[in-house]
Amino acid sequence: MAGKIVVLGTGGTIAGKAAAPGDNLGYTAAQLGVQDLLAAIPALAGLPIATEQVAQLDSKDMGPTAWRDLALRCAHWLAQPDLRGIVITHGTDTLEETAFFLQALLAPAKPVVVTCAMRPATALAPDGPQNLVDAIAVAQAPGARGVVAVCAGVIHGAREVRKVHPYRLDAFSSGDAGPLGHIEDGLLRIEGNWPAERASHAQAAMEKIASGAPWPRVEIVTSHAGAGGALVEALIQQGVDGLVVAATGNGSVHRELEAALLAAQAHGIRVVRSTRCEQGRVLPHRGDVLPHSDGLSPVKARIALLLELMAL
Ligand code: ASP
Repeated sequence: MAGKIVVLGTGGTIAGKAAAPGDNLGYTAAQLGVQDLLAAIPALAGLPIATEQVAQLDSKDMGPTAWRDLALRCAHWLAQPDLRGIVITHGTDTLEETAFFLQALLAPAKPVVVTCAMRPATALAPDGPQNLVDAIAVAQAPGARGVVAVCAGVIHGAREVRKVHPYRLDAFSSGDAGPLGHIEDGLLRIEGNWPAERASHAQAAMEKIASGAPWPRVEIVTSHAGAGGALVEALIQQGVDGLVVAATGNGSVHRELEAALLAAQAHGIRVVRSTRCEQGRVLPHRGDVLPHSDGLSPVKARIALLLELMAL
């Protein structure tokens, strides 16, 4: 292996433990350290792999503190000339958000591979060890760059990846775009492009994050049958900085919710329109009154807006 790999642990089911080996659901996430995860894989012994425990949480609880630590540690390691790539062990619930956050902020020229598991480490047949081995192989691959997710033998780009299933091992999809590639018995089959996109205000956002400045408040509201404006009105009262609407279909919004969002916009609050649809994107058309999310899902549109507001 030419160059060092660093594995950053953040918790998740991959580090989870259950009382009974057959229990794939009744477990506690984030129990094992990242070193324990590597020690359970004899094939990795003796390889130049460093580890760091950056966080230890169930990724449903992911938030600014862990994201800040992760961004700073990634930036630190990426600047080391002998570093080949980074692997991050992470829970599946918000993996797509962390992957997109790091890509938008850092757009690394080296690979940052986020991996996970759907079953705890104590399961009869845990999926974490294979995912970790695959992720390390991707981090070592010639030409690999940018933030990607690796799960169940599939490589997904940070912009496209979404969790689409609450239980099956192959829980992620890249939607219309299709996966970036596959990893089969250690060999990569690449079908897409490595992520290169960086938020235009990423440098300023990174400086704010590093300085410990408070993060803007950006909330997601959903348009649905019977939706009204009360939630948005309450958020305006509370001083929300930005709003993403998970709109129906091609970005349509219930008229009562839309009226409240337009009022928010008139107050100077940034509003972005994404879609509840799992696939596709909001296609702009004449007469749009709220800007669209440029193909980002609601949770990723929230991150893009967060970084933009942070940079102001
Ligand atoms: N709740 C867990 C987490 O996101 C689920 C998982 O990792 O699969 O940390």
